[in-house]
Amino acid sequence: MTQLIAGNWKMNGTLGANEALLGALAAGLGPLTPAQVAVCIPAPYWAQFRALAAQHPGLKAVALGAQDVSAHASGAYTGEMSAAMLKDFGCRYAIVGHSERRQYHGETDAVVAAKAQQALAHGITPIVCLGETLEQREAGQTFEVVKRQLAAVIHLNGHCISEIVVAYEPVWAIGTGKTASSEQAQEVHARLREQLKAASAHAERIKILYGGSMNAGNAAGLLAQPDIDGGLIGGASLKPADFLAIIGAAR
Ligand code: PEP
Repeated sequence: MTQLIAGNWKMNGTLGANEALLGALAAGLGPLTPAQVAVCIPAPYWAQFRALAAQHPGLKAVALGAQDVSAHASGAYTGEMSAAMLKDFGCRYAIVGHSERRQYHGETDAVVAAKAQQALAHGITPIVCLGETLEQREAGQTFEVVKRQLAAVIHLNGHCISEIVVAYEPVWAIGTGKTASSEQAQEVHARLREQLKAASAHAERIKILYGGSMNAGNAAGLLAQPDIDGGLIGGASLKPADFLAIIGAAR
């Protein structure tokens, strides 16, 4: 299947820096690869992205993504953004359940599942993040943890799960420079694929991305694994040369 390379800018960017970064991406993207590309950028800059995408043919094929979405449809939820609002701005993807949101904002598996449900109801593809902490890995709980996290999303969303993207992001590898080895990542991805197969007849087409310090040097090895269908890229997505190199390594 076509691999998806999605950048997660997190809480980074300025109008000026974004223009330079997106301009460099537009210039470099042309003939690179058939991979699908997305950038999940802070909401205040969605309009800027749309304006730049209208100017640069190189950005036409780059999809816009959000970094979060509300678990509620609308109403008195100060500070939240609904899936309908994301849709209004042309977001194709919404990251849900990123470990930083689980960790710093107390998001539970049930909340993450409800966010995925809101996104799906509005035709937005949720990128559902899962992953174990270092403590959990060392205690031999990796499979149990990711299984539980994915099960919550499957349970709430039923057959719609064929429309999600899964991102396996071991917490100990995010922003730390420590990457799971290709074998470690493939082992977890294969388990997740089995779980998806048990829940959906279309599991083969559900993309399972790897995220966690993926960079220009390690991308090719990770992306060559049979059950790794792309990458969710944090730090390296802010450096155009690195992000382009990762995109170039995708199939
Ligand atoms: C992420 O935030 O989803 C991520 C994978 O970050 P990094 O690539 O910086 O580890």
